Amino acid sequence: MSGHADRTGKEGGLYARRADIFPRAVDGFFRRLKWYVMAATLAVYYVTPWLRWDRGPYAPDQAVLVDLAHRRFYFFGIEIWPHEFYFVAGLLVMAGVGLFLVTSTVGRAWCGYACPQTVWTDLFLHIERFIDGDRNAQLRLKKAPWTTAKIARRAVKHGAWIVVGLLTGGAWIFYFADAPTLLSDLLNGQAATVAYATIGVLTATTYVFGGLMREQVCIYMCPWPRIQGAMLDERSLIVTYKDWRGEPRSHGTKRSEGAGDCIDCKACVQVCPTGIDIRDGAQMACITCALCIDACDEMMDKIGKPRGLIDYATLEGCEAEAAGAAPIPIARTLTRPRTLFYVGLWALVGLVMMFALGNRTRLDLTVGHDRNPLWVRMSDGDVRNAYTIKLRNMESRPRVVLLSLDGMADARMWDSADGESAAAPVLRFTVPADSVAQRRIYVRGKAQAEASVPVGFTVTAADDHKASDRVESRFEGPEE
Ligand code: SF4
Ligand code: SF4
Repeated sequence: MSGHADRTGKEGGLYARRADIFPRAVDGFFRRLKWYVMAATLAVYYVTPWLRWDRGPYAPDQAVLVDLAHRRFYFFGIEIWPHEFYFVAGLLVMAGVGLFLVTSTVGRAWCGYACPQTVWTDLFLHIERFIDGDRNAQLRLKKAPWTTAKIARRAVKHGAWIVVGLLTGGAWIFYFADAPTLLSDLLNGQAATVAYATIGVLTATTYVFGGLMREQVCIYMCPWPRIQGAMLDERSLIVTYKDWRGEPRSHGTKRSEGAGDCIDCKACVQVCPTGIDIRDGAQMACITCALCIDACDEMMDKIGKPRGLIDYATLEGCEAEAAGAAPIPIARTLTRPRTLFYVGLWALVGLVMMFALGNRTRLDLTVGHDRNPLWVRMSDGDVRNAYTIKLRNMESRPRVVLLSLDGMADARMWDSADGESAAAPVLRFTVPADSVAQRRIYVRGKAQAEASVPVGFTVTAADDHKASDRVESRFEGPEE
């Protein structure tokens, strides 16, 4: 078996040895776009746990909160209970379909701009440049002997990375508890051990993934590059080197007759965060960050050639352009059947979820019939059944609810805590805010001709008759 060549061209073992990458800073449209996306995603991540949302005195006021202790998920005005987890599943489906949509339309835009690995790696690279200087200075520093100054620089850089990792891990746990209280507890050493452990683990993973492993995570660990291959087609936008225009390459200012536009300056390679050469064709390691487009456009401006030697393009568009045909309009990429299917599916799941959210009842009833004994014969010949009912009030205020029974005309129903003297056709309960009340109730009736008859329990909010739930059960007894 032949060995695997690493990026330096050396034959190695079964896998490539990592070659250090020192991406050069670049400016341009896509670099600025990456700045904006980075600012937006980091702001959302760090600020969200501190947003407040008034839900009244009975519910937390944190706008986005995963309350594991009480098994609730709060998202602004929406509160999800454990039995409504299908809403979270729906959101995940929407996120998945959204990713399919983005990938089939603009390739790995998620990887290039918004993936947390990309955002944090980019942040770590900027910190590195701030401390060590740009590419050339970093290369010089790498080759320099280990002096006190070099050790100090390394310590500062890794220290800064660890601080970012700490802030990242620290921000994450604020999504799981009241942020101001948790921050105070953390600073006073009063927080739960799991909180400190989580921060420790996330600090380490952020530091290792963003600072040390960087592009290795995208190339070797993430399954997405493998999956996305199946989603791209000849009309998906990808970052492409237009070889029919760039080749044959010339070198520097010595441009021979018939040379292409590429002057082999390698600017596109030097700015690439994954260290690849886009001129070798589409590659799995390309995260479509488009920084090579900015670098090449800058070079084209300098040598007076049209921009776009490296560009976002579709395979179909490239073939047409190489053959000298008119460019294919971008609208064609956005309106092809696959894209429309993803848009339709995404919108359908979203509409179904919105409809379900808008129509869900905030009152829920479950009824459990006593299994042993199924029925009890009373001294006067009547039969009594016992039920355990659970009344779930999903609103953030206490509610008075009415419980009624249908299916037995002569039935008497009472709360076991109150005794039979409190029997009534309709029982009244107060259910605390955002909680489940459990009651044991008795139902008494005449023995029936059949051993088991269907009955129904209905719970209705006293202040809103549309908020109700009905559960079917049975009244058991001896066959007369
Ligand atoms: S080849 Fe270009 S688009 Fe792909 S990762 Fe490198 S710089 Fe980004
Ligand atoms: S930046 Fe443009 S001109 Fe320079 S090597 Fe890359 S493709 Fe060629």
